[in-house]
Amino acid sequence: MAVIGIDLGTTNSLAAYWKDGKAQLISDENGNVLLPSVVGYVEGEGYLVGSQAKERLITHPNDTAASFKRFMGTAKEYEMGGRTYTPMELSAMVLERIRRNAEYFLKEEIEEAIITVPAYFNDKQRSDTKKAARIAGLKAERLINEPSAAALAYRMQYGQEDKSLLVFDFGGGTLDLSYVECFDNVIEIIAVAGDNHLGGDDIDCLTEAWFLRESGLGEAVGIKLSGGGAGAGQQLSPELEARVRKLSEEAKCALESQAEAEMKLEIGNKVYSAVLNEEILFEICMPLFIRMKELFLHVLEDADSRVSEIDDLIMVGGSSRLKVVRRFLTELLGKEPVVLGETDKVVALGAGVYAGIRQRKEEIRDMLLTDVCPFTLGIGVAGRVNAAGNILCPMIERNSTLPASRRDRFVTTHDYQKAIDVKIYQGEEYYVDNNVFLGKLTIDVPQKPAGMAWIEVQFTYDINGILHVAVISETGERRQILLSNQALSEEELARYEKEMEKVMLPPIQQPENQEILQRLFACYENATGEKREYIAGMIGRFTYGMNSGRKRQVKDAAAEAAAWLEMLESQRDMWEEMLFDGELKAEKPEL
Ligand code: AMP
Repeated sequence: MAVIGIDLGTTNSLAAYWKDGKAQLISDENGNVLLPSVVGYVEGEGYLVGSQAKERLITHPNDTAASFKRFMGTAKEYEMGGRTYTPMELSAMVLERIRRNAEYFLKEEIEEAIITVPAYFNDKQRSDTKKAARIAGLKAERLINEPSAAALAYRMQYGQEDKSLLVFDFGGGTLDLSYVECFDNVIEIIAVAGDNHLGGDDIDCLTEAWFLRESGLGEAVGIKLSGGGAGAGQQLSPELEARVRKLSEEAKCALESQAEAEMKLEIGNKVYSAVLNEEILFEICMPLFIRMKELFLHVLEDADSRVSEIDDLIMVGGSSRLKVVRRFLTELLGKEPVVLGETDKVVALGAGVYAGIRQRKEEIRDMLLTDVCPFTLGIGVAGRVNAAGNILCPMIERNSTLPASRRDRFVTTHDYQKAIDVKIYQGEEYYVDNNVFLGKLTIDVPQKPAGMAWIEVQFTYDINGILHVAVISETGERRQILLSNQALSEEELARYEKEMEKVMLPPIQQPENQEILQRLFACYENATGEKREYIAGMIGRFTYGMNSGRKRQVKDAAAEAAAWLEMLESQRDMWEEMLFDGELKAEKPEL
């Protein structure tokens, strides 16, 4: 029984597995590794998945569905063969085909799949991805973020040096940026930011509007186009729209290897044409570049970093092949981005590496991939006077390292209130109504004047996207809810809670760090004057690092303090000499 990694892409999907010390791609019976994420229906024949379905996009747009990943987690429906399908069901068909291809290729049953998702997928989108996997006959306990998978693939390719990376994952439907730190065998995702509606499809859409304007086709079919004209194709017939869109995508892709691309469309006895080149495409993409720049600022701010601290910018995703995008990034960052092999295969290869880690394969079993929570999780609380509704009180902020846990106390807002409703939300908006509602817990409280009765709320969010919320009243009564995409039994819940207890021990309270802290305290007690002040500074740095919430900083703080203590204890004389010669500055001593 094998474990595989799957990149379930907007445009193409593909799979990889771990073999002979590296991730390898899985091909179908014709040797193709890319499976177009397209599903079609043929009267009398049934369903087609992949390239055969893609070919029918032009001829039978009403019986073919593509780019459905963009609408994962929404109520959008696709009509085909007399019934409707959700994006989740269509994704299940793609996953099923991948499973079958992999079983054929590996000549064994697939036990489990690691599926990649855009970092910015919310809980519902993740849950629908898991459901799609289940329908496809795959166990998919672990979803990993696409940029994290790319960072894993980068690490395997470029060795073990410590580095700060920015992964720029630009696909057909989404752009995800992730700030990643790599050190030792740890890949730590520090912050993510993304846009679910910014991808190669948007470039095609803008190019299509440009073509309609330039070639005169827009005018001929009675469409008024101004400026950017995104969405201009709305009034074209579905057949014509599909033809112009395909033409636009082909011209865009052709610019990878040629200076210009002629776009030509014959309708009746009339030919509509225009010539696209890099300069024009750069102009066309400008509105998207502005949005990209904002995302860069967002992720750097969340990571508390700056451009100069990025060692490498890694480009992945099909749209990273666009020269205009590379040019824009080089201008923005002042350095050339790194392009990892074939950009559309990197994520799948990273998922294949993870499949190896999951199977605890010798060469990589100690590798650790951390992740962050891409959105804020919190509860609704009463707003200030005149507030237009309840406001969100964040419990786990976006970009917290996972697993994350927080406990807080809340009081009643009304006199002699009998119970408190704890409503759980996900999102970044001020008012709860603008965020995604996840669930509710109600707990009784002793009837007291407003503000006198209290409850404690504990949020724990783990690396598999399972949110555990517990509410404890001052009487000791407890209510809890597990918000996950899988129904868990009581037994599993108990086991889960036990595991979480370990997680909830913060670094500063872990035994090895407690020992360091006690040694630092002992030094402090034994010292006086300037030396004591210096040790106080070291204690401050150590505790700051421990509480930073970042694995890298925790590790650095522990290493610095341990080395310093060792030096102090073993070379006391030299140390004191240095100290009193005034050579020692407030920062880290050179060891
Ligand atoms: P992905 O979702 O990563 O599979 O990326 C798919 C997107 O990459 C689509 O929008 C494609 O049009 C785009 N793409 C694929 N090949 C190229 C290319 N050579 N140049 C520009 N864009 C490309």
